[in-house]
Amino acid sequence: MKYLKLLTLFIVISFNVNAQNKLNLYSDKQANDTYAITHVNVIPMTKDNTVIKNATVVIQRTKIQSINGAIPKHAKIIDGTGKWLIPGLIDMHAHTLAEGSPFIMYPTKGPLVSFNTQNIMTPYIANGVTTVFELSARPENIGQRNEIIRGDVIGPRIALAKVIGGSKTNITSKTPSDARNAVRMAKEDQYEFIKAYTWLNQETFKAVIDEAKKQHIKVVGHIPKAFEGKPAKDIFMPHFGLIAHAEELSKQTTDYSYKKAQEFARLAKENNTWLIPNVLNIESIIGQAKSLENIKKLPGFKYVHPLMQSKWLTSNSYYDTSDELLEYLQKQANFHKLIVKAFKEYGVPMLVGTDAGISGIVSGFSLHDELNLLVQAGLTNEEVLVSATRLGAEWLEIDDKIGTVEAGKFADLVLLNQNPLNNINNTRNISGVFVNGKWLDETKIDAMLLEVENWNNANKENYDWNTLIKSLND
Ligand SMILES: [Zn+2]
Repeated sequence: MKYLKLLTLFIVISFNVNAQNKLNLYSDKQANDTYAITHVNVIPMTKDNTVIKNATVVIQRTKIQSINGAIPKHAKIIDGTGKWLIPGLIDMHAHTLAEGSPFIMYPTKGPLVSFNTQNIMTPYIANGVTTVFELSARPENIGQRNEIIRGDVIGPRIALAKVIGGSKTNITSKTPSDARNAVRMAKEDQYEFIKAYTWLNQETFKAVIDEAKKQHIKVVGHIPKAFEGKPAKDIFMPHFGLIAHAEELSKQTTDYSYKKAQEFARLAKENNTWLIPNVLNIESIIGQAKSLENIKKLPGFKYVHPLMQSKWLTSNSYYDTSDELLEYLQKQANFHKLIVKAFKEYGVPMLVGTDAGISGIVSGFSLHDELNLLVQAGLTNEEVLVSATRLGAEWLEIDDKIGTVEAGKFADLVLLNQNPLNNINNTRNISGVFVNGKWLDETKIDAMLLEVENWNNANKENYDWNTLIKSLND
């Protein structure tokens, strides 16, 4: 009995220690070799971001040990001649596929489908995405993060936001007091952030934000539908820290002028609300509405789990929309670009997020598409790179750990064959990736991707979306 009490106490204490870490750090199990990248051009992404030409970067175990320091004798040399080193990329809006069933069928049943976590994480890593912000976090995502931390899976760091105010999942958030309880429970359950969602009423939305402030937990989110048509000033408030898509703003209005975009930007600035523009999302929806061929043509499609391939192609809710809706979506897409311009003008930080995991958005690959679209919307190559590295780390409050190439930071790094400051598409031209000090060169990355592709092809027959849905009703 005494032993049991002690055990319980230990569990409570260790949980509290965990809660103090914004992101769990990797365990020693992943201990790696020492590397020196020589003659490399470092784009540090620090505030002054002066490129360090022809540098030597030493990586020891999980961290960057030095830049232009001595090369340890036992270091493995990576020739960086003519190459460019940037911090690992951060996708601030991801929905990573994880098992779990929305339906309780019978006690002990468990999930309907299980996924191989490595296959799910490989596309992120292969694309240099070494941190993701999971915006619909469930216990299964905590499980995935633990597999990565244990070193069983090579994957990104995962920050977790719990949704409050979803249509099905959070029935307990219809009143302000429900919402306050939900925030406290989310914190207790180790979620590090709250995602306020579309279906909250106005009072409940405000209560989520107020309670989160009291609990020192940051809020990202949608702007609830209940605010549609309300004055713009009503939808911004202090401690609503990050808007999950530009769409949250465009759907509040029918005025798609630059002046309106500026009003949003000014209010965001006043309330310290940052923005994930996620311009890719709507472009992708438009593409899918026109033709499903656009999905099949995606370079990353073959790496998407076959169940999702099947869902995107056979149960696609965007495909074949009316011309009227298509016209509306196109207007929104154009307005999103104005929003990006206005937020830049007002100096509101923007973060790169892609909605990875939803129909038509392939994890990892999508990040490079978003960078490209943000440049088209008027950001410089350097600005989008800052948005995809240092600023994301700042919002997550782990900028002392990742987000720049500096000695002492975790070694999350992308080695590029060409300079991304000259052409943003050069972020796709990857020579290798360091994930928490673990070096994956191009050959290793290609092998990892091939493994996913082969597995997907070999198992395609077993994962038909419609059969799965039908099985629920049998
Ligand atoms: Zn999303």
